[in-house]
Amino acid sequence: MQQTEDVTAADKAALARTDVPRVKPLAQQVADQIAAGEVVERPASIVKELIENSLDAGATQIDITVAGAGIDLVRVRDNGHGVVASDMTLALTRHATSKISTAQDLLGVASLGFRGEALASVASVARVSMKSATADAAMGHQLDSHGGTIVTDSPCAHPVGTTVEVRDLFYNTPARRKFLKTQRTEVARIDQVVRRLSLAHMQVGFTLSHEDTRNRRLELAPGRINQRLKEVLSPAFVEDSVVIDEATEDYLLSGWVGLPNHHRRQTDQQYFYVNGRAITDKVVGHAIRQAYRDVMFHGRHPVFVLFLELPAEMVDVNVHPTKHEVRFRDTRRVHDFIFGSLHRALSDIRPQSGAPAAAVPYETEPVTAAPHPRQSGLVLSSAPSQQTPAGGLTQMIADEAPGWLQQESPVAQEDGIPPLGFAIAQLKGVYVLAQNAQGLVLVDMHAAHERITYEKLKQQAARSAIPRQPMLVPLALDVTVAEADLVEDLAGELVAAGLDVRRTGRQAITVYEIPALISLKVVPSLIKDLLSDLAEFGSSEEVANAQFDMLASVACHGSVRANRQLSVLEMNALLREMEQTENAGLCNHGRPTYFMQSMDELDKLFYRGQ
Ligand code: ADP
Ligand code: MG
Repeated sequence: MQQTEDVTAADKAALARTDVPRVKPLAQQVADQIAAGEVVERPASIVKELIENSLDAGATQIDITVAGAGIDLVRVRDNGHGVVASDMTLALTRHATSKISTAQDLLGVASLGFRGEALASVASVARVSMKSATADAAMGHQLDSHGGTIVTDSPCAHPVGTTVEVRDLFYNTPARRKFLKTQRTEVARIDQVVRRLSLAHMQVGFTLSHEDTRNRRLELAPGRINQRLKEVLSPAFVEDSVVIDEATEDYLLSGWVGLPNHHRRQTDQQYFYVNGRAITDKVVGHAIRQAYRDVMFHGRHPVFVLFLELPAEMVDVNVHPTKHEVRFRDTRRVHDFIFGSLHRALSDIRPQSGAPAAAVPYETEPVTAAPHPRQSGLVLSSAPSQQTPAGGLTQMIADEAPGWLQQESPVAQEDGIPPLGFAIAQLKGVYVLAQNAQGLVLVDMHAAHERITYEKLKQQAARSAIPRQPMLVPLALDVTVAEADLVEDLAGELVAAGLDVRRTGRQAITVYEIPALISLKVVPSLIKDLLSDLAEFGSSEEVANAQFDMLASVACHGSVRANRQLSVLEMNALLREMEQTENAGLCNHGRPTYFMQSMDELDKLFYRGQ
């Protein structure tokens, strides 16, 4: 008892001392600094928030200046509608926004900003100066804030629009400053932010200047789509890409996807927007990868700029403070729509007549400055959309499209010469030489035959029910309860996919039969991947993938090997089959199967007629 008394006394003594922490509300400024962590991780996030504000203000020109990788200075100047002088203090205050007013508004947010916390957060960790003028104000107004405290509030001269300057980022939170990566990384991130936003706002002009030793500058004129694609992606992308423009009654997918031969080691040139907002999304990523599966070289990544538009109520943008993620109402439909649209566009890669020039980029530069002739011997078209959206991006694409995109469907065959022409000879047992109406055709016969065989096998597999093989020894697998539930629920789907898998315990399943075309050793990982796909996307291509992998290796081994002598008859038969085959422009490892060079190009090589 004595002891308890003592403890209580000690407690009392402790309570009387001032160093015992007490619970009290945070000062507004401190709360802002904490919240700032969500939106203001780094200079690039400030650049993003400021540009989004300019876009929300209807700006048509946005000029960005950065110094010291954005730590010393980020300045964004726009010609938008400006801020009313008496609203400026509020604009720098947390949860003050002009963009929404009720929780209901959150369901259909059309503006890029809506949380009303970006400026307050930035202001709490830097020195911020905002100058702005509206069209009907006689003067501009200026507000300076240091770490969230207003130090200047006075009229100033400023054209209609707004300039926000952020200096000395994290000057009052040195710990945060330490976490920034090297200057080079920060500069690259800022560039990426500007590029990303600029692609979604083709009608807005952007300049970005880095005021550092290199004084780099990016200038994007309003409305010039091809110039922008060239600057932001690469000149080659404009030529090596297909326009996507597909609509259902409520979804619209538009933009550009790179041809399979235009691939990259990184995923850094993948731009996807949902209702104008740049996002990364697992479902979307999965759908796109699937669409390229058959035609992309393994381990390489496609390049794309895609815009998905759907009714605001079918997507939730209020998922994450930085707004990089969204949540779709109908994940499955979004997945299938994207996959279907791209798959059709990419499957159409096959030889066509009438189109000028080569199937694959060749390295030889044309001798003259004439328009580059290699604007695709691949004529690509996505399936006709039920409805072509009027105006907007589509119209701009049409206005600016390179010549080959505006071409009508392939020109009829001249003099009955088929697109890939007729065989002349075989080169070193590897290549078939042919001539068509335009000039020279060179075919890698192994790659071509492999693609043809593969497509045939795929069609056969699709036509008939998937043949199954029983496992000699049924395979027991440990899984999660959720996965076991899934196996129980999806028995029908699994059988359709050629799998007899049953739940055999709370956390156990057993595999009794597998598709005949799948090799035994991939089964455990296949089932795991399949279940995780089913859980996440509601569908899976894993079984099909494994089957296709098998088909591909059957095709590869069953195809004509190099060094086999073919007769002219056989060679011509190969060319005709290629013309009939989906994806014939590429073998199923993503390598090109043929190459064309027109007489004009050959003439240029030899300086003929100049
Ligand atoms: P949000 O964009 O989420 O509303 P912000 O903190 O980014 O929150 O901005 C607060 C408010 O300041 C905006 O709602 C807007 O009214 C005003 N504002 C900020 N930047 C600009 C700008 N460049 N032009 C016009 N108004 C702006
Ligand atoms: Mg904002």
